Formats: sequence, C-alpha cells, structure tokens
Amino acid sequence: MEKPKLAIFDWNGTLLDDLPMVYQSVVAIFRHYNLPPPTLSEYREEIEADFMKFYRNHGMPEGITGKDLNAIRKRYFQEHWNDALLRPHAEELLLLCRNQLGIPTALVSAEMREILIERLRSFKLMPLFDEIRGNSWNKEEALIATLDIFGTKAEDAFYLDDTYDGLMAAKNVGIKTIGFSAGYHSEQRVLAAKPDFGPVTALREVMTLLRQMEEM
Ligand SMILES: [Mg+2]
Repeated sequence: MEKPKLAIFDWNGTLLDDLPMVYQSVVAIFRHYNLPPPTLSEYREEIEADFMKFYRNHGMPEGITGKDLNAIRKRYFQEHWNDALLRPHAEELLLLCRNQLGIPTALVSAEMREILIERLRSFKLMPLFDEIRGNSWNKEEALIATLDIFGTKAEDAFYLDDTYDGLMAAKNVGIKTIGFSAGYHSEQRVLAAKPDFGPVTALREVMTLLRQMEEM
C-alpha cells in the first residue's frame, strides 16, 4: 500500500483496552446465576454479535433474557468504568498520523455516542480525531459515510480493528485492513478475516507499519 490518505480506527478492544473489564463483566453475569464462567480464551474464540448464543452455549437457561444480562453488564460497567485503559501508544499513533504523516484520523465505533465522547474527553483524545462516529452498529455503512466526508477512495484508507466482523466490514467496502489480535477476538479469528496487514498485537507495530508505507 502506498501512503494512506485516511486513517480509521476502531475503539473498543483496539485503541481502548477494555477486554479485561468486559470479560470480568461476563464472569459477573455467570456468577450472578451460579454458573461456571467460560475462560477468557473461550470468550475471545466464541463471542459474536448475537451474544445470547455464547451465553446459551455455556449453560444460560432459556428463561433468562438478553435484557436481564444487559442490566447486570450495565451495572458492572458503571462500577468499573475506570478499569478500561487507553492502550499504550494510542496517543502517539494518532499524533504520528496527523502531525508527522499528514493523514487525517477518524474513529468509527459501535459504542454508544455519549459513552464514546465521555471516554475520549477523559483521555483528552477529542482534538486528535478529525471525525468521530459512535453508534456505528452497521460498520460498512459507517465506513462508507466516513470515506464520503473526506472524499477519500476506499483503497486509499486503512482501518484498524480487533474483530473478524469489523475487518470484514472494511474489506467489503474496499478499505485496506490492519488486523489487531490483542483485543476481543482471538488471533485465529482475526487471521480468518485475512487482513491486508498484520495481525499486530501492539499499537507500536502499527506505527512501524505506517512509517514503512511512508517510505514506499
Ligand atoms: Mg473492537
């Protein structure tokens, strides 16, 4: 890939290291119902958008609904808000794009917009993004809209994401993908998406990749 013209980032599990907190909320849900919690690797191997499948496969009785689980999860997240950390070098990576390489930055996330903005404010990251898009449950649509805003062709943009689904959405749109395999999905699942670059396990590796593209 020649030097990219637009850098697009996923948030949860990618720039935000919230997997430990999310997994602990899963443990809390299983404990609430006196069920043995799945392991972290089982979670990373099996969790999908239809999350109830995962819970049913691990013994969650039919009478318990997604709403019940979400109530426990929501309470856990509120109590453990500060357990989610900004991933090391996130800020440097954004600065590298904008200041040294002259590439605009966009954030495309399925996270609820208010939560996303609150997080970005607390990490002082708001000024480091040219475009911030929350509520992006349909990643394909959100990525296309993001390309439109910057007037960038899909193949001139890259997208960094930690899940099979996120990477596939970008690939379907024609955006170059960098797989991140230290987040929600196991390395095997990230590899299954056949990302154009990576998988990488640290943001520092993304910085190295971008510097190499700059020299090409
Ligand atoms: Mg993610």
